[in-house]
Amino acid sequence: MIGSFVYEALPMRVVFGVGALDRLGTEIAQVGLSRVLVIHGPDRSGTGRRVAETLGERAVGVFAEARTHVPADLARRAAQTAVGLGADGCVTVGGGSAIGLGKAIALVRGLPIVAIPTTYAGSEMTPVWGLTEKGRKRTGRDVGVLPRSVLYDPALTVSLPGELSVVSGLNALAHAVEGLYAPDATPMVSLMAEEGARALATALPKVAAHGADLDARTGAQYGAWLCGAVLGATTMSLHHKLCHTLGGALDLPHAQTHAVLLPHVLAYNQAAAPQAVAALARAFGAADPAGALWDLAGQLGAPRSLREIGMAEGDIPRIVEQAVLHPYANPREVTAEGIRQLLHRAWAGERPKVA
Ligand code: NAD
Repeated sequence: MIGSFVYEALPMRVVFGVGALDRLGTEIAQVGLSRVLVIHGPDRSGTGRRVAETLGERAVGVFAEARTHVPADLARRAAQTAVGLGADGCVTVGGGSAIGLGKAIALVRGLPIVAIPTTYAGSEMTPVWGLTEKGRKRTGRDVGVLPRSVLYDPALTVSLPGELSVVSGLNALAHAVEGLYAPDATPMVSLMAEEGARALATALPKVAAHGADLDARTGAQYGAWLCGAVLGATTMSLHHKLCHTLGGALDLPHAQTHAVLLPHVLAYNQAAAPQAVAALARAFGAADPAGALWDLAGQLGAPRSLREIGMAEGDIPRIVEQAVLHPYANPREVTAEGIRQLLHRAWAGERPKVA
């Protein structure tokens, strides 16, 4: 059944396909840039150099210090570097960390971003920025931080190690799952979520088996694009809230935490989200999507317990406390006892239980 809805498209260009990097010069000009700062993380210097070489004189500098969760002092230094070099925009090369740093510069200096994503996390599709200071991560929405253009070149993801590819792909799947039962879900975004989930569930086993398989990499990045767009268009619920809480309180690794929790949160919500279940059942070809996700994680060799990614059982009560402190959107009521049971199963690595 189609109800009433409000749909707002986000303004951005997407250039997709093997070899998309060759179009970077054209894309820069298309969005009106001629002097860009190239941003990447310390272990991506090979790709960063390639990007800077592709741009020639239009790359006025390289900032190679992007780090996860965007420390505020690093963002200040990067912004000063961009201004000092007279940059009129930034090109980010990498995952959420590089894009996050570009967004922080866009936020304070208004410099537009062209993003070249090399993981499946999806930040390039969202107007959400984050900054970490004194151990606290602040986040906000500002359409000014949305990249003007995104170049997806699956060839650049071939180097992403198998384990990271798998957890990053499951991170992307989480956006689709929560987008399907979001309070602001719309038919258009739900189509993207279902197709994104299908593409990722199909491609990830092939990526895990043969990381150099360009067809599989293309399918995974296509799915990641769609799932990222869902993240940018909808309000996330319990799963993202719990991942944020676990990451902030215990410093658990971002994508791995998503991979472990997703089947459990979906199982918690399934009875209250029949349309989402129907879409995911079609995408996965399985009647119980939470069980299918759990099986997929096992097949992919992804972590399936919070214990194995560094959480102590004794931490469960304080995470429960934080998770129920402020109300937020979720199809099923979030109760302390419900979250305690969910977290305990996820911590121990038990099969998710549909409530
Ligand atoms: P990341 O950007 O930190 O990258 C993870 C690691 O993979 C890094 O060491 C990186 O150098 C390496 N890497 C990236 N691409 C590679 C490649 N092609 N080959 C080899 N190695 C490669 O991780 P991520 O999961 O992409 O992003 C996580 C961060 O993004 C978190 O801080 C998260 O909060 C944020 N995020 C924000 C949003 C948003 O909408 N604002 C959305 C998703 C994630």
